[in-house]
Amino acid sequence: MLSKEVYTLACAGLKKLALNQECRDAFDKNSLFFRLFERAAHRYIIASDAQELSRKLQVLALKGYQLGVEYVGEENHDPQVVKSFVSEYLNAIQGFARAGLKPQLGFDLSAVGMLISQETAYHNAATILSAAAEHDIPVMISMEHSSAVDKIFEVYAELAPAHHNVGITVQAHLHRTVEDLPRIISYGRKVRLVKGVYNESPEVALPRGEELDKRYLTLLDDLLAAHVSVSCATQDPNLIKRLFDGAYHSKIDELEMLHGVQPEVLRRAKDEGLTCRIAAVYGDSWYLHFLHRLAESPDNVLEALADFYDPSRITFGAGY
Ligand SMILES: Cc1cc2nc3c(=O)[nH]c(=O)nc-3n(C[C@H](O)[C@H](O)[C@H](O)COP(=O)(O)OP(=O)(O)OC[C@H]3O[C@@H](n4cnc5c(N)ncnc54)[C@H](O)[C@@H]3O)c2cc1C
Repeated sequence: MLSKEVYTLACAGLKKLALNQECRDAFDKNSLFFRLFERAAHRYIIASDAQELSRKLQVLALKGYQLGVEYVGEENHDPQVVKSFVSEYLNAIQGFARAGLKPQLGFDLSAVGMLISQETAYHNAATILSAAAEHDIPVMISMEHSSAVDKIFEVYAELAPAHHNVGITVQAHLHRTVEDLPRIISYGRKVRLVKGVYNESPEVALPRGEELDKRYLTLLDDLLAAHVSVSCATQDPNLIKRLFDGAYHSKIDELEMLHGVQPEVLRRAKDEGLTCRIAAVYGDSWYLHFLHRLAESPDNVLEALADFYDPSRITFGAGY
């Protein structure tokens, strides 16, 4: 049995690898690593393209879940890549409308042009939001590393008043979130509360542990007191138990978990009457998403190796 310290360091190591550009390049679609681990990554990545995605979303919708969709992109510096990312969303929206689906779309502002300029990110996000609104489709903006948070809030401040279908993710682990929350609440839009996935220094964020879980619940109290729509996005069975024990489950809009992560935990919550959303990720640039899932529970590294050895272990929809 490895010590807790080794697990914590392994988790930080996997997150460091996730951000390493050379490693990302080594998982390019035509690479050996991509071919070797694609099947294992598909425990979490629901589909390679929008067509396969729609078919699978229908299956999950029939099981009674709300749905979320994110196309896995990288932090895009290249205007052409940003353009094709935006086109992917606009086409996907049309496809969902034809299929009668209304999944909540999600994306990072860095995927829609934040690394080019805030104006580009604003313009592209607004274009997606308007197209989504035509089909009654909600959109959730993700939250990124602490170094990007100010800029994300500045763009969100422009988007939120004009787009009723936008919401934003906030990270409980960042110390600043306590002070940011009143401003976020003032827009009256949906808020998705997460612990936070990025490696951050202690000056900026709390590590995993009881103090973070308490802060998560305090922030949740503030959101509920303000009567904004709230999604609890967590995959932590202990925190989910506290949501039920503290009767939060009757006040929050939904519990949201990423596709492929502990489906039985989400199914149990649904069976107990909570609205549950499966946040599904699709596309081929899955390296970062895959590594983050492994980092969340380093036992998942062994699971991935077992999946690599025997891909038939992964059955779409099993457990939900
Ligand atoms: C829908 C959704 C959207 C998100 N969006 C963002 C975002 O925009 N920005 C951001 O920074 N983060 C985002 N995250 C990630 C989030 O911040 C956490 O890093 C992630 O949810 C893991 O934290 P946790 O609360 O689930 O539990 P943790 O505190 O990380 O883990 C507690 C326990 O939960 C279980 N667990 C958690 N994850 C897994 C897993 N993958 N496999 C098996 N067991 C697991 C394990 O038992 C673990 O010990 C999102 C998460 C979800 C579910």
